[in-house]
Amino acid sequence: MQQALTILQDTFGYEAFRAPQAEVIDTLVRGGDALLLMSTGGGKSLCYQIPAMIRPGCGIVVSPLIALMQDQVAALKQLGIKASFLNSTLTQDEITAIEACLRRGELDLLYVAPERLTQPRTLALLKSVTISLFAIDEAHCVSQWGHDFRVDYLALNLLHEEFPSVPRVALTATADARTRQEIVKNLALSNAEEFVVGFDRPNIQYRINLKTNPRNQLLQFLKTEHAKDAGIVYCLSRKKTQDTAAWLQQQGFKALAYHAGLPAETRAEHQRRFLAEEGVIVVATIAFGMGIDKPDVRFVAHLDLPKTIEAYYQETGRAGRDGNAATAWMVYGFQDVTKLRQMLDSAQGDEQHKRVEQIKLNAMLGFCELTTCRRHALLAYFDEAAAEQCGNCDTCLTPVETWDGTEAAQKALSVIYRTDQRFGVSHLVDVLLGKASDKISQFGHDQLSLYGIGQEHSAQAWQSVFRQLVAAGHVVADPERFGGLALTEKCRPLLKGQDTIAFRLDPVQKTSKKLSKAPLPDDIDVGIWEALRAHRRALAEVQGVPPYVIFHDSTLQAMAEQMPSSLAEFGALPGVGERKLEKYGDGFLQVIRQL
Ligand code: ADP
Ligand code: ZN
Repeated sequence: MQQALTILQDTFGYEAFRAPQAEVIDTLVRGGDALLLMSTGGGKSLCYQIPAMIRPGCGIVVSPLIALMQDQVAALKQLGIKASFLNSTLTQDEITAIEACLRRGELDLLYVAPERLTQPRTLALLKSVTISLFAIDEAHCVSQWGHDFRVDYLALNLLHEEFPSVPRVALTATADARTRQEIVKNLALSNAEEFVVGFDRPNIQYRINLKTNPRNQLLQFLKTEHAKDAGIVYCLSRKKTQDTAAWLQQQGFKALAYHAGLPAETRAEHQRRFLAEEGVIVVATIAFGMGIDKPDVRFVAHLDLPKTIEAYYQETGRAGRDGNAATAWMVYGFQDVTKLRQMLDSAQGDEQHKRVEQIKLNAMLGFCELTTCRRHALLAYFDEAAAEQCGNCDTCLTPVETWDGTEAAQKALSVIYRTDQRFGVSHLVDVLLGKASDKISQFGHDQLSLYGIGQEHSAQAWQSVFRQLVAAGHVVADPERFGGLALTEKCRPLLKGQDTIAFRLDPVQKTSKKLSKAPLPDDIDVGIWEALRAHRRALAEVQGVPPYVIFHDSTLQAMAEQMPSSLAEFGALPGVGERKLEKYGDGFLQVIRQL
C-alpha cells in the first residue's frame, strides 16, 4: 500500500486517500473483485487507476460514453500516465498504433466502449497481452431496473468467463438495493467485496419552488446567483430545450440546446463547447449528462419535474463534482405531474413496470411538497440516515409555514367525489369558487351543494391543496380519465373527520438573495482569480483540452489563497503532482509574481 500512497502523492498530488479508496485499491491489487458505490465526485476513478498502474499489464476500463473516455484520458496524460482509448472516433491507423502500444506493454490504462470490448477481435487482442484489471464504469447500465439500461453491458459477464484470473471492479454512483443485486448477478460479481459510500453531496444546495413564471424565475436565479457559471437546464421536451436556449441567448447567456433529435454533429459540438469553454449553459433533455465529467458545473436547474427521485438525484448530482458550492434548483407545478402520467401511460411496457413508475413519480411529487429537510428525505430514500436538518436546502434555510388544511381537504375531496372523480384541477377549483363556465353549466355543477363553498381561499391556494393531496396519496391523477382526479382508500379517515392534515403554505415569490452562495470564498481577490483563470484558459487552448484538465477550480482556489512563491510551495498545492509541477509550475508562479 505504500506504493499506492506514493502514486497518490507524487502523480496525483493528493495527500491522503479518502474512504474507502485504500481498501478498494488493496482488494484489486491483491487480485480480488470489487463493487464500489460512491456518490459522484467521491473519487471512484483512482480506485482502478492506481491498481492498474501497480499491477503488471494494462487496465481495461469499460466506459459507455466517448466524451467521458476522451476527457479521462486527456486528464491522465496530463499526469504523465500512459493511457489511451479505443472508440469509433479514431481512424484505422490510430487504432493500429494504439493496439501496437498495447502489445508492446506500453499502456497502463486503455478505455474501451462495451460494444467494442465484446467483439471477438478485441477479446483475442486482450488475450494476447497481460491485463491488470477490468473496471466497469457506470455499472448500473447493466440493470434493467435502473434507468440507463444498455444492452451492450449485458455481454460483459463474459469477462468473468474469458478472463477468470483478472480482477474486476464495477463502479456506479446510483444504485438502490435492487439495481445493486442486478449488477452483482449480471456481471457475475457474487464474490466481489462491496464498498458503499454515502450518497450525500453536502456541497449541493437543494431548492425547489412552485412554478409561477418559470422563465422569469430561471432568469432571476441565474442573474443573482450564477451569472457567469456553467450549468445545465433540464426540460422535458425537445422543443422546450430549443425555445429556452434561444430565449436565454437573447438574455445574454451562452446557452446551447441538447437533445436526441439534434444532428449528431450539433450535439457533439454543443457538448464540446460545454466542456471547453467557460460559463456555457446547456439546455437539455435527459439525453444530456450521463458520463459528462465536467467538475465545475455550478448549477443544475429543472424546468420540469424528473420522473423519479433517482433521476433527480442523478441529474442534480452533475453539479459541483469538484466539491465547491453548487445549486440544484427546480420549479414544478401540477401540470408536470399530469403530463408525466400521460407520458408514462402511453409508453410501451408491461403493467407492472408502469405501476412501479407511477409509484416513483408519486414519491418525486411528495419530495417536492416536503415541509422538512430535503437532504434528509433524499438520503432516506436511499436508505441512508442523516441529520434532521442539513442547513443547506430551501426548507432548512427558509422553514416552511404550514396551515391546518383539514377542512379545506374535506371540501376538496368532496368536490372530487360529487363530480364523479373525472375532472381535472382547474374545473374542480372553478366549482369550489362558484365560477361560471360552459363546462359547469354543461354538467350542472352549479346545482351542487358544494358549488361556491370554497371562496375563503384563492384559486392558487386550492391548486396547492389538490397538489398536496396527490403528493400525500389521498388523490390520484387518473391517466385513463385524462388526468382527472380520483380518490384513494387513504382519504377515508380525512373525509370522515377522523384525521387531520397540515398543508405547506406556498411561499410567495421570494428573492433568492438570502440563499445565494458565491462559488468562491469571499476572501479571494477577483483580480487574482481571473488572472489565474486566464492563464489556465490559455494553457488549455494551446493543448485543445478543457481548462479543468489543466487544474481544477479547487487547485486554483488554493493557489489564490496561498499565493505560492516557489516551486516547492507550488508542488504542495492539492492537485499538483510531479508532472504538473514540472509543466505548469513556472508559468503560474510567474503570473502570481506579477500580481
Ligand atoms: P467520481 O468518478 O467518483 O465521480 P472522480 O474520480 O472523478 O469522482 O474524483 C472526483 C474528484 O476528486 C477529482 O477531482 C479527483 O481528482 C478528486 N479526488 C479523488 N480522490 C482524491 C483524494 N484522495 N484526495 C483529494 N482529491 C481526490
Ligand atoms: Zn435541509
